Amino acid sequence: MTSALLDGFNRKIDYVRLSVTDRCDLRCSYCLPPGHRDFVEPGEWLTFDEIEQVIRAFTSLGVYRVRLTGGEPLTRHNLPELAARLNALPRLTDLSLSTNGVQLKKQAQALKQAGVKRINVSLDSLQPARFSIITGGGKLEKVLDGLATAAEAGLQPVKINMVVMKGVNDDEIEDMVHYCIEQGFTLRLIETMPMGDSGRAASGHYLSLEEVRRRLAQRFELLPATMSGGGPARYVRVAGSDLRIGFITPISRHFCETCNRVRLSADGTLYLCLGQDDKVELRPLLRAGIGEEELKDVIRAAIAGKPERHEFREQPGKVVRFMSRTGG
Ligand code: SAM
Repeated sequence: MTSALLDGFNRKIDYVRLSVTDRCDLRCSYCLPPGHRDFVEPGEWLTFDEIEQVIRAFTSLGVYRVRLTGGEPLTRHNLPELAARLNALPRLTDLSLSTNGVQLKKQAQALKQAGVKRINVSLDSLQPARFSIITGGGKLEKVLDGLATAAEAGLQPVKINMVVMKGVNDDEIEDMVHYCIEQGFTLRLIETMPMGDSGRAASGHYLSLEEVRRRLAQRFELLPATMSGGGPARYVRVAGSDLRIGFITPISRHFCETCNRVRLSADGTLYLCLGQDDKVELRPLLRAGIGEEELKDVIRAAIAGKPERHEFREQPGKVVRFMSRTGG
């Protein structure tokens, strides 16, 4: 019998964001500092068996969505194998992936075959030189090739995640709208969050998406829209096209009252809120041989203690870990 996971604020938790590594092959300015070395050792990563054990317990408690993320999930060896194992869990019906797209050309087909249904790809600029600066040396062409392969492989929908930064890439939002219309992708605009030193530094480029929305409304006719996916984006559709634009506004208009998710980091830490430090370490329990029922009790108790909301605005210095550590 599946019993819903409810937190102390009566929110139903049905979504786990699963970080499979905190390492990344890019160094986006708002996410990881250039010389960052303080990564979790591979021996501390949960093994595929351990991940499956935890996700199995979650699914038997009502979780049906899992997103593979990181760090950069495609840098974890044999990711399609893990995807296939999770996809085989009977109650897991929505397996998705967040990626920077660098290795997508090589892996899109295998991921689709493994049961990944849809993907989100980070893309903050369509200008090669600017893309390289934002990502600490990334090659735009690789990501665009990866996106084309993903679309050919039938990963649907492809959502583009663009972190909007004033004075960095906010002059490209309209270009991104046209690119996504041409490619048949969905566009999601994201406000910078003060996570870790790099996130806080990027917050100097914070731009409210309410302002961006007003600006876009002067250029395009924006109609109300919805989109499935389980996330907090609020969508509009651009009239005369199929393009949907999602606004993710953790700062200007937080959406904590509808939060439906928790995050499991690569080292087996269950983070109960992206913007708080509340957590439960699952790895020691797994390595001590915890049984299924006991693990479910630990998860239930953890969820009961999920914080009401983040405090990115009120306490921007609070979260010292980087986004890549928690699993974005
Ligand atoms: N590497 C994958 C990717 O690029 O999508 C998954 C992990 S990445 C941490 C997940 C998302 O978090 C990306 O869309 C990234 O742009 C976003 N992100 C990272 N740090 C952020 C910050 N400080 N503020 C807002 N978004 C951030």
